Amino acid sequence: MSAVLKPSNRNSAAEGSGKKPGETRQGRILVVDDDQRLAESLHSLLSMRGYVVEMVFGGQAAIRKLGATVYDVVLLDLVMPDVDGHQVLQHIHSAKLNTLAIVVSGESAIDHVSQALRQGAHDYIKKPYVADELLTTISNAIRKKRLEDSHGEMQKRLTRSERLHRFLVNNSPDIIFILDHNGCFSFINNKVESLLGYTRSDLLGKPVTAIVDAEDQEKARYFFEHAHTSNDSERAINMALVSQSPNTGESRRRHFELTMSTISDDVLESDGSERYEIYGTARDISDQIEAEEFINFQAYHDILTRLPNRALFKDRLSVAITQAHRNQEKLAVMFIDLDRFKVINDSLGHTMGDRLLQSVSQRLLSCVRKGDTLSRFGGDEFTLLLPDIKNESTALQVAEKMLESIKTPFDIAGHEIYIGASIGIAVYPDAGDDIEALIKNADIAMYRIKSSGKNGSILFNAEMNGSVTRRHSLEQDLRRALQNNELEICYQPLVDTVNTNLYGVEALIRWNHPRYGRLSPAEFIPIAEDSRLIVEIDRQTMREACLHVGALHQKGHPGLRLSINLSPVMVEREDFVQQIFDTLEATAFPPENLQLEITEGLLLNDRRDIVDKLLHLTQTGITLAIDDFGTGFSSLSYLHKFPIKTLKIDRSFVQKLHHDADDACIVSAIVSMAQGLKMNIVAEGVEHMFQFNYLRSLGCNIVQGYLFGEATSLNDVVIRYPYGKRLAAGESQANGPG
Ligand code: C2E
Ligand code: CA
Ligand code: CA
Repeated sequence: MSAVLKPSNRNSAAEGSGKKPGETRQGRILVVDDDQRLAESLHSLLSMRGYVVEMVFGGQAAIRKLGATVYDVVLLDLVMPDVDGHQVLQHIHSAKLNTLAIVVSGESAIDHVSQALRQGAHDYIKKPYVADELLTTISNAIRKKRLEDSHGEMQKRLTRSERLHRFLVNNSPDIIFILDHNGCFSFINNKVESLLGYTRSDLLGKPVTAIVDAEDQEKARYFFEHAHTSNDSERAINMALVSQSPNTGESRRRHFELTMSTISDDVLESDGSERYEIYGTARDISDQIEAEEFINFQAYHDILTRLPNRALFKDRLSVAITQAHRNQEKLAVMFIDLDRFKVINDSLGHTMGDRLLQSVSQRLLSCVRKGDTLSRFGGDEFTLLLPDIKNESTALQVAEKMLESIKTPFDIAGHEIYIGASIGIAVYPDAGDDIEALIKNADIAMYRIKSSGKNGSILFNAEMNGSVTRRHSLEQDLRRALQNNELEICYQPLVDTVNTNLYGVEALIRWNHPRYGRLSPAEFIPIAEDSRLIVEIDRQTMREACLHVGALHQKGHPGLRLSINLSPVMVEREDFVQQIFDTLEATAFPPENLQLEITEGLLLNDRRDIVDKLLHLTQTGITLAIDDFGTGFSSLSYLHKFPIKTLKIDRSFVQKLHHDADDACIVSAIVSMAQGLKMNIVAEGVEHMFQFNYLRSLGCNIVQGYLFGEATSLNDVVIRYPYGKRLAAGESQANGPG
């Protein structure tokens, strides 16, 4: 067989683009022929042309070679003795080898060739071959293969990149979407499902505004309409979207930050028919917004009661003052301080104290209108702003309403708790024309209520000024006063209404202040209670009074009773009972002659420990009296639970006796009720004979008041009431301080 050798065009050799390791520039060829001579001639022809050529002399060897090396082209003889060309083709096909087979066959029978082509052969060359033809066929085949390879590679890379992008888009923490020129979703990523609960198919083709919260619709429409006309490449906006629970269908508002940009035509390679495609992202910023709102709330509110705090109160007050000034209106600032809150807080614990504050604030809130600001100023202090009031009495009415609202006991974890409040009111512009003055003066007025017996409200007036600085200095002076013996005990007589004999004395304390002179306990006892110095004061008072009155027992006044006032702070103490016992023992005072006066408030809170303490005391013969009865909660229901012997009717009822029929009723009701409970009744503040007569006619057995003498030295009392001496009515009146 002859071969015509012609020089071949170098360029005809395939030039693969991306060359793999082991790949030659020209191509790698396996020559398979059982005719060794022919194979060798092909080998040398192709090697000369720069191909890397290997040869094998049978089908079996060819299959082995193909398994080990990748060839661009296999020149395959069809007819071979053992494994023929068809079988090799089959192997190439089934092993998916990336090689092109060119069948070289002497066999001219058309069916052999066509079978080979069906089996995947790329081309065929007849033996004997023409060198040029052979070389062209090979070089075309290789070029084609290189093209296919690089196309396949490109396709693979594209698929990979597409998959990567899809992954990135769907795993983005944000919702990613594309809007068509109608503002409808033409693409949206998976994230919409987890963030908003819609399926993608729900939304595709729907307008974007379909998921915008009703409140933000207007804003959204404006924004989307302008998103593509704007010159800015990117626009951002915060908006509330509506999420939907896939289970319950329940919808919720969530906050998102939306950014939008127009997709330019060159990205889309659009022919201009689809204009205004918008690319957008929506980032869930609900947590951030909630955190901001919480921080904002916290900066201006009290977390416990959720009321505005001091800062917000001052803010609103400042605005209200400006407005009142402009419109020549009045406004009121109230300072509301809970009475004895400290005692409750200390005895029941802070958790209960907190719950009480919450409940109190709810009740107070129920008394104010929408435009008013009730704030927690701190601790147990509240402030109230009433903008635009007609006059002072409007403010007083609101204050009374608040006091009334907290009168009903609070139920805190099964404890029935009673609490009162002291309210001071400052009205703009008379009681101050700026924030600080109004708050300060309302505070001053509040203290006035505190020191005059608590639970009430009062308007500030100029003469109250100065009491604050005084209060402040008293606080500091009190400690020293105890050491310097500036406290003095006075005694006020208690008189038997049946025989007008001296029944006993009540010890009342006075403070001889080096600068302010003689001070009333009404002024300094609240201060002493706040600083807990009251414990020491009450202890000292009791010891001294027991000594004084005990001495009188020896000096012609056997059986004279001593009544002592006790602060609730004292009673709350764990060692309270022991202290009383110690004092009695140290002074050798007979317990049956001692009466302890306590306030209603102590009993109202229904405390087992208090009941036990009081029972313990009374077992020794000590008697207990309720002081100022009628001013607090005047609930009689609790009385039977406690070992109370005496009711002291508050002097305010006695004082109103002459002109107020209602008070006469109250007094007679209290007296008959106390009689029913077999209690002693002491009427306080008796100043006039007719009061005395009336009280006696009701059956009130003991009286106390200026008619029978003010609190004075014990000596003065006994001079006036020699043992067993009866007072004639006229005499007592004549002796009474006018
Ligand atoms: P209180 O126990 O209700 O004492 C009666 C108050 O009424 C006394 O005021 C007394 O001077 C006053 N008073 C008596 N008769 C009349 C009257 O006819 N007309 C008027 N207008 N007032 C009368 P005082 O001495 O200023 O005491 C005020 C409060 O201070 C007492 O009220 C008592 O709660 C408390 N207090 C006094 N001494 C002590 C004490 O040693 N320890 C404690 N914890 N509290 C005390
Ligand atoms: Ca008293
Ligand atoms: Ca009293």
